[in-house]
Amino acid sequence: MPEHVLIIGGGVIGAACAHYLLKAGRRVTLIDRGEFGGGCSHGNCGFVCPSHVLPLAGPGAVGRALKALFQRNSPLSIKPRLDAALWSWLYHFARRSNERDMLAAGVGIQALLNSSRQLYDELFTDEKIEAEWETRGLLFAFLTPAAMGHYAETDRLLRDKFGLGAVRYEGDDVARLEPALKPGLAGGWHYEHDAHLRPDRLMASWRRRLAERGAEIREHCEFRGFVRRGERAVAADSSLGPLEADQFVVAAGAWTPRLKLDLGCRIPIQPGKGYSITMPRPARSPAIPLIFEEHRVAVTPLKSGYRLGSIMELAGYDASLEPKKLDLLRHGAGHYLIEPTAEPIVEQWFGWRPMTYDSLPIIGFGPALANVALACGHSMLGVSMAPGTGKLIAELLGAAPPHIDPAPYSPARF
Ligand SMILES: Cc1cc2nc3c(=O)[nH]c(=O)nc-3n(C[C@H](O)[C@H](O)[C@H](O)COP(=O)(O)OP(=O)(O)OC[C@H]3O[C@@H](n4cnc5c(N)ncnc54)[C@H](O)[C@@H]3O)c2cc1C
Repeated sequence: MPEHVLIIGGGVIGAACAHYLLKAGRRVTLIDRGEFGGGCSHGNCGFVCPSHVLPLAGPGAVGRALKALFQRNSPLSIKPRLDAALWSWLYHFARRSNERDMLAAGVGIQALLNSSRQLYDELFTDEKIEAEWETRGLLFAFLTPAAMGHYAETDRLLRDKFGLGAVRYEGDDVARLEPALKPGLAGGWHYEHDAHLRPDRLMASWRRRLAERGAEIREHCEFRGFVRRGERAVAADSSLGPLEADQFVVAAGAWTPRLKLDLGCRIPIQPGKGYSITMPRPARSPAIPLIFEEHRVAVTPLKSGYRLGSIMELAGYDASLEPKKLDLLRHGAGHYLIEPTAEPIVEQWFGWRPMTYDSLPIIGFGPALANVALACGHSMLGVSMAPGTGKLIAELLGAAPPHIDPAPYSPARF
């Protein structure tokens, strides 16, 4: 079995790959152009949500996206520009916005979500990784009866096709379940099996565990291409010089399509920019993580703080932190929560989600280099899918029987 694996990218996916490769007895080096855990895996909402099996592309998604194009300050926005990769991505997204493709993608998404949810339980008990892990479920709360009724159709579909049922709360029963909510809401749906964690704590704690297991982590080390011999890579060319290894894993999140990989396959990932605001817990903080779909705001009550997050901007690699978008989060949460914010603000943040148009990650070997695997494109669910991805990568690299069917994630599908 090849010994040494080099992982490119120190986000939650790179960390999970390193973990399971080390467990399989490999030597692991992980490089990051910035800091380990400093990308999209830093300030996200931290939901580990097996309930989120549906991809973004589904019936009605194109209409919603078009509406967003003409709305000012919408939580969903596309910056139209002359960019062939963006238009191709949007075209394929539109083509997949139908029930058949949505359900097919859901099967692949669910397998990784379920595997990861189970593996997190093991990580937090057996590996002593500490990330403020809590298993209080996830509550979708609705302002209007129309939105509550509309969600009933989604709930039915999730129940019938994926065996996922939420507990329904009518009217003020939802505020009795979660007293931080205002009275007078239309109701809510509680997915009791979902969980949440603090992403930056997860990354810091996982890093310590990886180092204890012998991983070499090299920060400020930028990947620049592969040194090839025939159909194999023998080294990664980096800002710190060539780094030799037997096998390579590319886990560079939203940056992946910008890398000089030449793997003989397309990597249709667009950066989907999202924002978050972190602050101390308000006096009337919720205990259960919340999603307000009508305003597209997510609320994460952390043991050590409180976070509002969401927004989806397809604006390329734009690195500005727009105050108006952050206001949308505060304003949106104000419709539902008695005390939606607290002072002082600890962090205002954005991250680029690695968005594929089918919402499925890309996991597997590219055709041109037999010893380079991709582990990227986890879209809105990288935290929720990380352990399953890491385990699958370790299995694929070791030619071991995979614990879930890898076919839905194959790079060959594009
Ligand atoms: C607002 C928001 C909320 C979210 N909430 C959730 C949630 O509740 N639950 C959930 O499951 N997911 C959530 N997500 C999505 C999740 O954050 C991402 O799917 C996940 O972090 C992607 O992880 P990654 O390891 O692929 O990428 P990243 O964490 O971005 O890591 C990629 C790394 O690659 C490095 N890199 C790039 N180029 C190079 C190079 N040339 N050489 C070396 N290194 C390189 C980068 O520096 C970076 O550290 C959210 C995202 C956002 C923005």
